[in-house]
Amino acid sequence: MPGTLYVVATPIGNLADASPRALEVLAAADLVACEDTRTSRKLLAAHGIAARTVALHAHNERTATERLIAALREGKNVALISDAGTPAVSDPGALLVAAAHREGIRVVPVPGPSAAIAAYSAAGFAGGTFLFAGFLAAPPEKALDALDVPYPVILYEAPHRIAATVRALLERFGPEREIVIARELTKKFEEVARMRLGDAPAWLEACPHRRQGEFVLVLGPGEAKAVAPAPQPERVLELLLAALPAGEAARLAARITGAPRNALYRAALARARKP
Ligand code: SAM
Repeated sequence: MPGTLYVVATPIGNLADASPRALEVLAAADLVACEDTRTSRKLLAAHGIAARTVALHAHNERTATERLIAALREGKNVALISDAGTPAVSDPGALLVAAAHREGIRVVPVPGPSAAIAAYSAAGFAGGTFLFAGFLAAPPEKALDALDVPYPVILYEAPHRIAATVRALLERFGPEREIVIARELTKKFEEVARMRLGDAPAWLEACPHRRQGEFVLVLGPGEAKAVAPAPQPERVLELLLAALPAGEAARLAARITGAPRNALYRAALARARKP
């Protein structure tokens, strides 16, 4: 029998956020795959867990995945964790999870902290839809078009880029759009502040410690854009038939509307037959 791959969320700052079930699974696993074994050993030691750790990070993901899949096939249970939060969410792990599915190995999530969901839950934007965009590709200006959506957008950002990213958001979406800046969540200097985008640069500059730490941004929803009604195939065909022969009118109407050309051609001939 193959083992089970547990995908285990760990705290994003406050060690007390490790769930009893996460600790149970980590203590019972034959192997714990960690993004950084030194970081994870601190978490494990804080909870008195002496697990066998192996590294799985961005630079060895492929080879580590092969070794872990072999261990799972032999019947070992593997727990996957990252440095903080939920593995495979802007963190390594997805390759291993996908390989486990391909191999028919059972994958079990052990849910818990994630900076994105923690920030979104404390942002207060109504509605069930959001876009999780992770880290913006650099330079941020080029990646902003994809964020122009009528629902909130969650972004991760590093402290050395936070000011530039907020400026880029301000230029692209204007000063009236709302933003929530969630900083150092679950830690001693945690801040969650909701404001106009126009006020965000000054908020960041107001305290020197706001240039450090870990950040999640939640951009408020944009305006829903009016969607132009799709052109009606029959109406387009009728207009084109006033100037073109049936075959040509059907061809163009199919290209404009996406309707099947044959059906339009038959409709064009039927119209021609009508007295
Ligand atoms: N997988 C993790 C999760 O589920 O939260 C995220 C990993 S990603 C590599 C790290 C980024 O998450 C940081 O750069 C920051 O944007 C965000 N982050 C992690 N911990 C945070 C915290 N305590 N407060 C605010 N943001 C945090």
